[in-house]
Amino acid sequence: MSAEVRHLDPKQQPLATEDTGMSKTLTHFVNGAHVAGNGDRFGDVFNPATGEVAARVPLASAAETAAAIEAAAAAFPAWRDTPPLRRAAVLFRFKELLDRHLDDLAQLVAAEHGKVVNDARGSVTRGIEVVEFACGAPHLLKGSFSENVGTNVDSHSVRQPVGVCAGITPFNFPAMVPMWMFPMAIACGNSFVLKTSERVPSTALMLAELLSEAGLPPGVFNVVNGDKEAVDTLLSHPDVAAVSFVGSTAVAEYVFRTGTHNGKRVQALGGAKNHMVVMPDADLDQATDALMGAAYGSAGERCMAISVAVAVGDETADALIARLAPRVAALKVGPATDPGAEMGPLITRAHHARVRGYVDLGVQEGARLVVDGRDIQVPDHPNGFYLGGCLFDDVTAEMRIYQEEIFGPVLVVVRMPDFESALALVNAHEYGNGTAIFTRDGDTARTYASRVQVGMVGVNVPIPVPMAFHSFGGWKRSLFGDIHMHGSEGVHFYTKLKTVTSRWPTGIRAGADFHMPTMK
Ligand code: NAD
Repeated sequence: MSAEVRHLDPKQQPLATEDTGMSKTLTHFVNGAHVAGNGDRFGDVFNPATGEVAARVPLASAAETAAAIEAAAAAFPAWRDTPPLRRAAVLFRFKELLDRHLDDLAQLVAAEHGKVVNDARGSVTRGIEVVEFACGAPHLLKGSFSENVGTNVDSHSVRQPVGVCAGITPFNFPAMVPMWMFPMAIACGNSFVLKTSERVPSTALMLAELLSEAGLPPGVFNVVNGDKEAVDTLLSHPDVAAVSFVGSTAVAEYVFRTGTHNGKRVQALGGAKNHMVVMPDADLDQATDALMGAAYGSAGERCMAISVAVAVGDETADALIARLAPRVAALKVGPATDPGAEMGPLITRAHHARVRGYVDLGVQEGARLVVDGRDIQVPDHPNGFYLGGCLFDDVTAEMRIYQEEIFGPVLVVVRMPDFESALALVNAHEYGNGTAIFTRDGDTARTYASRVQVGMVGVNVPIPVPMAFHSFGGWKRSLFGDIHMHGSEGVHFYTKLKTVTSRWPTGIRAGADFHMPTMK
C-alpha cells in the first residue's frame, strides 16, 4: 500500500475514531477494518433536522484513495477465483444481516439525510432487493454453449469479472444507490471501492461492517470517504477497471469523460427533471395523491421525484391546482424522527439557500406562486434546514425553474393545450430520467410510453423505479454511457465477455489453412 493506514478494531470503534464531545470523527474502511484519515482535510456532516454538526468526515488524499484501490486489487484474484455459489453464500448472509439491521440503517440514513424514517426504511428495502437479486449470480453468470460450430469444434461464451470497480454516489440515497452497484459487482467476482457522498458517510461504513460480518474477505469491499481528490484518483488509477457514478449531471459528464479517457468502463447517471402528464380524462384525485408523494416525498430530493406537472387543458390545470394547493399548504414538515412528519429538512444550509433561491427566481420570472413554503417554522427546530412545500402555476418552458433541476419540494405546473404539445414538451427537455402519464385511455398511455424520450416511464404510476430484476437508468443528459444499473444490465456492466472455441479430440489433423476459417 502506498499510504500509511492505521487500522482500528471495528468492534471497539464502530464508525468513529474519536469523540470530541462536540462531534465524532468518522473513518474510511479498507481491507476489512476501519482506518483513520491521516490527512488534514475534514468535512462537516450535519444533522439537517437541527442544523448542528454531527460528525467530521475525513476527506481522503490521493494516497489514501490509492491505498484502498491497492487493497481491492490485492483481494481481487482470490475473490474472482471463488466459486460463484460461495460468493453468493456471503451475499445471502449479508441479506440476512441487512434485514436484521433494517431499522438501524433506516435511522442512520434519516439522521444524516433528514428524510423521514419510513421513507428511509423503504429506500433501504429497495437496496436489499438488489442484494437478493445478486444472490442469484450463479444463474446470472451462466454462459452459452454451441456444439459443433465446425466439425469437432465447439464454442462457449462466459462472462468474467472486470477487476477493481469503483462506485461514486450522491447524498440522497446513502444505502440504496451504493447497493445498486456493489452487490452486483461483488457477486460477479469483482472487488470494490465505494466513494460515498461526504455529506452522508456513515451508512456506507455500516454496510462495510455488515459485509465483513457476513464473511466477505478483507479488501473485496472498501469505503473511502472524500471529495473530488478521491474521485479523481479513482478515475485515473490504473488498477480501477470500471466506474459507476450517480450524482448531478455536471459531475456525471465529467466522470464519464475522464474515466473513459483513461480507458475505464463508465456508467454515469445524472440529474433529472421528471414530468407527469395529466390528461383531461385522468382520475384527478388519484393524480393528486400521486403528485403529493412524488413531488414532496423526501423533500423532493429524489432523482425520480416529479418536479413538473404537465396539465393538458386549462380545465385539468384548474382542477389539479384546486386539489393540490390546500394539500401542499398543509404538508407536515418536521424532523425525520417525528412519526407524523411527511417531509423532512433539506440536506444542507447551502442547498436550502439554493432551493429557496429558485423559488425567488420563479416569482421574478413571472410564474404564479400558489403555495409559498419559504418561511416555514418547525417548532423546537429553529436552525434545521426546513423548507415548506412550494407550488407554482403558469410556468413556461422558457423559465429556469422549468429547465433546471431544483432538487427540493417545489412542483411547477405547466399548462399545455393537448397531448401532442405535452409530449413534445417532455421530449424537448434535456433530461430523460423518469416520467409518468395519468390517463384512463389505453391508446394515449401506449402512445406516450412508446414515443416519449425518457428511460423509465410510469402509466398511472408516479415513480416508476424499476425493481432489482429490471434495470435502472435514464436517457439523454440523465445518463452518460449506455448500460443501466442492476438487473441484467448490472451483470453486463460488471463482467466482460469471453468466447472460447475448442477442437476435440486433438488427434484430427485439419492441415494448414491460410484462409479465414469457415465451415467447410
Ligand atoms: P453531486 O454530483 O454533487 O455528488 C455526487 C458525487 O460526486 C459525490 O460522491 C461527490 O463527492 C462527488 N463530487 C461532487 N462534486 C465533484 C467534482 N467536482 N468532481 C468529482 N466528484 C465530485 O450530487 P449530489 O448533490 O450528492 O446528489 C444529487 C444529484 O444526484 C441530483 O442531481 C440527482 O438528480 C442526482 N441523482 C441521480 C440519480 C439517478 O439515478 N440518475 C439518483 C440519485 C441522485
